[in-house]
Amino acid sequence: MRTDTDCIFCKIVAGEIPCFKLYEDEHTLAFMDINPASTGHALAIAKAHWENIHEIPVELACACIATAQRIAGAAQTALSPDGINLLQANGPGAGQSVQHFHVHIMPRYAGDEHLKINWGLNPGDTDEIKAAYGKIAGCLG
Ligand code: AMP
Ligand code: ZN
Repeated sequence: MRTDTDCIFCKIVAGEIPCFKLYEDEHTLAFMDINPASTGHALAIAKAHWENIHEIPVELACACIATAQRIAGAAQTALSPDGINLLQANGPGAGQSVQHFHVHIMPRYAGDEHLKINWGLNPGDTDEIKAAYGKIAGCLG
């Protein structure tokens, strides 16, 4: 299995540093985030060291989503939040601080808009949308 001795999440997978473990299966592990953005904030990670969505094999990304779904269900039952965000960052520009693929499970509660992960619904410029569309569509095989 791919691992990186300098990676904090690989150390958690290896049992070298502790975590509040919620769930594990062959390919994934879920545990509580140590710097919670909200009550119940948890992470679903791949056990193997893949940096981001560009690197990880699709079946392992799917396994992480399946684990995130399982944790979200338990959090919904246990904590009755008003909603739950799943968040997954790729690269420093997106705020990724741990370079090991993971999905955030973030229960949301009324009044927590300070989390600033909701961008509102502001109509875009159609020409800009179309230009980005053309570029992305052109890179799909
Ligand atoms: P990101 O910034 O999207 O890469 O998310 C990384 C997350 O990992 C942050 O929310 C951190 O609080 C969390 N984190 C870092 N170290 C640990 C740790 N030892 N145990 C639990 N969560 C951690
Ligand atoms: Zn790692």
